[in-house]
Amino acid sequence: MNGTLIDGKQVAARLRDRVAKSVAALPSAPTLAVVLIGDDPASQVYVGSKIRFTRETGMRSIERRLPARTSQPDVVETVRALSADPDVDGILVQLPLPAHIDSAAVIAAIDPAKDVDGLTQASAGRLMLGQPGLRPCTPTGCVILAKETLGDLSGKHCVIIGRSILVGKPAALLFLEQNCTVSVAHSRTDNLPVICRSADILVPAVGRPNLVKSDWIKAGACVIDVGINRIDDASRKSGSRLVGDVDFEDAEAVAGAITPVPGGVGPMTIACLLRNTVLAAYARRGLDVPDGLSI
Ligand code: NAD
Repeated sequence: MNGTLIDGKQVAARLRDRVAKSVAALPSAPTLAVVLIGDDPASQVYVGSKIRFTRETGMRSIERRLPARTSQPDVVETVRALSADPDVDGILVQLPLPAHIDSAAVIAAIDPAKDVDGLTQASAGRLMLGQPGLRPCTPTGCVILAKETLGDLSGKHCVIIGRSILVGKPAALLFLEQNCTVSVAHSRTDNLPVICRSADILVPAVGRPNLVKSDWIKAGACVIDVGINRIDDASRKSGSRLVGDVDFEDAEAVAGAITPVPGGVGPMTIACLLRNTVLAAYARRGLDVPDGLSI
């Protein structure tokens, strides 16, 4: 390939090391509470990795696994109890929730001081207002990868494709915080390839395999592919494989730097969750942000 491969696994491992050092400097280990409702296989895998890495960095994790039929009031009560528990520093509610449960009501029951996914109204408001707070994990991971690759991001044109609450919108605000000039493209955007070609940093967060081709990318641009899509692949034992939103083989010849899928943004999402948990623990103990964890 012409450009640099951005190794998200390596950047995430370094961030986890810094998290582990910050954990070790505390008199008592922070605790992350994970709430999983139902038995969605992908959610089980994600939760398993999150718990494993939480423990590897020296933190405690507690789990609340509830059956898919659990009523909305019972889920809200579970989250409220964790919010009120002085021993819990972070609360992660694994999404998506079963259809009969109102996610917004469950998220509203998370104490913003423990909102390690950065999803509550308070966290979103603080991000919007430029006030300190817990930021959503995946977009934070994108910013860290871009800074690792390019250094100072001031003045760079960042084009984000996607405007979801989970990724696109917070990513726009986080890149703005880094003094980027930000464009947000979405499903109704006209001339999408032209807009993408003007990006110094291109962040596709759509969920469409191979949407972004080489002729959408400015030569030398930094491409941070958030998409995770499972496609059929008869050559694999499993019959499928994961790809991003970028046609990687096509794009790597043009991009200056590009993340692979898997092994790019995914590992950063978990590392940023751990970072948020330790940040929440420091803030709850009245301590300043530990060295090495500022962005
Ligand atoms: P979403 O479905 O909520 O949002 C998708 C966005 O893409 C929408 O804003 C929509 O306007 C836009 N869009 C749809 N079709 C488009 C098109 N043809 N052209 C331009 N824009 C289009 O999805 P999401 O939750 O934001 O996730 C996006 C992708 O990122 C998914 O593949 C998801 O699996 C992945 N994801 C990855 C991580 C990670 O850790 N790597 C975390 C979260 C989400």
